[in-house]
Amino acid sequence: MWWFLAPRVAFGEEALDALETVKGSRAMVVTDQTIRRLGFVEEVVQRLRKNGMEVLVFDEVEPEPSKETVMRGAERAREFSPDWFVGLGGGSCMDAAKAIWVMYERPDLRIEDITPMTELGLRRKARLVCIPTTSGTGSDATWAAVITSREEVFKAELASREILPDLSIVDPRLASKMPPSLTASTGMDVISHAVEAYLSQWSNPFSDALALQALRLAFRYLPRAHANGSDMEARDKMHVAATMAGMAFSNSQIGLIHAMGHSLGAVYHIPHGRTVGLFLPYGMEYAREVARERLVDIAWAAGLEAPSREETVERLLGWVREFVRGLGEPLSVRELGIGREDFEGRLEELVRKAMQSTGIFTSPRVPEDADCRRLFLYAYEGKRVDF
Ligand SMILES: [Zn+2]
Repeated sequence: MWWFLAPRVAFGEEALDALETVKGSRAMVVTDQTIRRLGFVEEVVQRLRKNGMEVLVFDEVEPEPSKETVMRGAERAREFSPDWFVGLGGGSCMDAAKAIWVMYERPDLRIEDITPMTELGLRRKARLVCIPTTSGTGSDATWAAVITSREEVFKAELASREILPDLSIVDPRLASKMPPSLTASTGMDVISHAVEAYLSQWSNPFSDALALQALRLAFRYLPRAHANGSDMEARDKMHVAATMAGMAFSNSQIGLIHAMGHSLGAVYHIPHGRTVGLFLPYGMEYAREVARERLVDIAWAAGLEAPSREETVERLLGWVREFVRGLGEPLSVRELGIGREDFEGRLEELVRKAMQSTGIFTSPRVPEDADCRRLFLYAYEGKRVDF
């Protein structure tokens, strides 16, 4: 038996007004300083207050949020006793809101205990709304969260069906302030989610439909949103695509591309979207042997055709590299300014972390350590995968 899980979704123009349907007495908004400066925190607070709620704003979330921040947030929550959490921002804010919520309701647990095997018993005290301000992580539609541990230089990939938000508010206006480089890197995250969901061994008809449509939208509208941030049609389509891709991978699984991306990001502190965008071509090239038919479908979603299926896949693999390049995103680890010697010195750590990642075993082609090592080295140089 399989399940398909998704939050209630309010989307489109003025979707933020959906906050007026949230009934409760105290809301804790989990966000960061940038979102505050953009004026979105104030907009959210006003709507909640209009609804008769008392509001506490916790705006201390940093990029790649740490365990320490989560524990501090949970402490504030215990003093305030919210019945709603509002995760407002990019993936970091929404993931932090999920983890703070768990630690608030279950102070007896450790963050690492948030696994699909643990019964959390959430929603006795509070529920969760997520409002994305980037078109990227899709965290508003997933039951996963990534929290970084400073001491262990590791990204904990937390997952529990219970941390799925109750409501997701997908209002494109909130994503319209992203600068071009953030539009590009978060957009590459959307594409990586959809590609991995579609290639995953756990893909299913529900996740397939969402993944393919997210790809059609992102392939078409990401270059437009990147070129002109005030193209609201492109912003709207990318914002929806991000949530759809989030639903897709949350109901199938991410894979090798995210495993390698998380590993590189944890070791070198590089933003998530940039690392997964970098490994996207390598993951697709490595999968070609076992996932040809699925790659043909992805090529069609990109509007590519060729006389044979082999040539279609070949065209897609070349086209994806051009697509990444066209957005000004890196295609090799070297371009990130990481020295070869340093990289080789940390190669074993990178391989170990990638191989420990939860998605790796549902990848279309599961690598052994040796292949994972080779993939990292190819990605360092920017070389096409030929094994
Ligand atoms: Zn991602």
